[in-house]
Amino acid sequence: MRLTASFVLLFALVLVSVGLAFREALGVVLSQQSERVLDQEWAAVRGYLRMQRGELVWIYDPENSDDTFAVERLRRVLLLTDTQGKVMEISSGYSALGEEKAELIQKALRAPQPVTVERRDAQGRPYLVRMGVLRDQGNDFFLAIGLPAEDMMLARSRLSRVYFLMLPVTLMAIAVLGWFAAGATLNPLRRVAEATQTVSAGNLDLRLPLHGSGDELDRLIETFNGMMERLDLNFRQIRQFSIDASHELRTPITAIRGQLEVALFTAESKEEYRDAIVTALEDVERLGQIVKSLLLLAQAESGQLALQKSAVDVSEAVAELADQFRLAAADKGIGLTLEAPESCVAVVDRTQVERLVYHLLSNAVKYTQPGGEVRLTLRREPAAVYLQVSDNGQGIAETHLPHVFERFYRIREGRPGSDQGAGLGLAFVAWVVRAHGGTIEVASVPGKGSRFEITLPAGPAEELERVFAPAPARDSV
Ligand code: ADP
Repeated sequence: MRLTASFVLLFALVLVSVGLAFREALGVVLSQQSERVLDQEWAAVRGYLRMQRGELVWIYDPENSDDTFAVERLRRVLLLTDTQGKVMEISSGYSALGEEKAELIQKALRAPQPVTVERRDAQGRPYLVRMGVLRDQGNDFFLAIGLPAEDMMLARSRLSRVYFLMLPVTLMAIAVLGWFAAGATLNPLRRVAEATQTVSAGNLDLRLPLHGSGDELDRLIETFNGMMERLDLNFRQIRQFSIDASHELRTPITAIRGQLEVALFTAESKEEYRDAIVTALEDVERLGQIVKSLLLLAQAESGQLALQKSAVDVSEAVAELADQFRLAAADKGIGLTLEAPESCVAVVDRTQVERLVYHLLSNAVKYTQPGGEVRLTLRREPAAVYLQVSDNGQGIAETHLPHVFERFYRIREGRPGSDQGAGLGLAFVAWVVRAHGGTIEVASVPGKGSRFEITLPAGPAEELERVFAPAPARDSV
């Protein structure tokens, strides 16, 4: 309704303006035309009126019918006076227009050019009257000739009347057309709105067909379809996540239950009960770890785990972690070396970056055989921090490489260590990198070892300088 009303209002404004402008233009054209006719008649009168023996007379050949007709036509609405205003000739047509005032006659006599005025006869019919001085052989006379302007005025007013009478009809037609046009434009939008209302978790495969016109509507439908695509993918991921998570949790629960049942039915001594409880506790511990990792990852991915960024000396943080791991690695006969600059400041979330390094180091130690070597390298690049964790352990086959960052992805074949994890470590590592706007890459050769490379943006330089302006002296790590 609003669209149609604006349509009609706009058209009404345009049509009225056009009508008024047209009426004005027509008036100008018609009066110019009358002026030209008056010019010609004025010149013709001057040609026929001559002074002869002290008198002003019409000079023409009465035998010539053309001449006679022309002169009669010119004399139809004519007034001729002397300079005193004494009437010398007045046609009946002119007397119907009323008398000319003496002052007007004097004024017209003095004017350099003839003037045109409007007059009306007794019936109110309009005339254009040209008046001025007629000079012949040094004698001045006042001459006025009239031209009926009724046709001209009528043409103008009739046209305006027809035009403005047609206006409401035209506007009605525009309103009807506008109503249908607005309907045709808005209907597809209504369909999109209706489709949106039907969206629920059960029909996320809903897609709307494109119109094919490539217009705003198509763009809206594309946006809608794109949104549905993303929602669909996210819902599927969430469903998969729930399935995977329940599966991961079920395995240790089944194990615990099995151990406890076996103990209950078969254990005889206190020792056997104790062993069963210890094994069950280990599994409970693992269960706790899985739940903890799951919760952390879920919080991270749902945006509840916001990064707490601050200027951090990453060198110091990784050195502490390397120290923590050195013992566990040494227990397994694995060497751990750290290569890091004295200080490496970046604006990052310290806790999350530590978790990231923790997961990478723990994997490297876990999947490397005794006698192996794990290297942690940290480097400061112009606008980034480069971190590398490499090992010469069992490596990852090419088929698994693209999936290792996925949730619950574990490579089980020939990996005694993989049973301990739930396949959530690298997914969390990837989230930390993503949340910092960094990149992570992995290169690995089965049997030779793996290399995880991470680049994190160092953050705003001003903050780094403000916090670490006088670089603190530190022993080499
Ligand atoms: P998990 O917590 O089970 O170790 P991750 O997400 O950390 O899960 O790793 C996924 C899989 O990638 C692991 O099951 C393991 O097989 C493989 N992986 C990760 N790091 C290494 C590594 N340094 N060397 C060999 N394999 C690795």
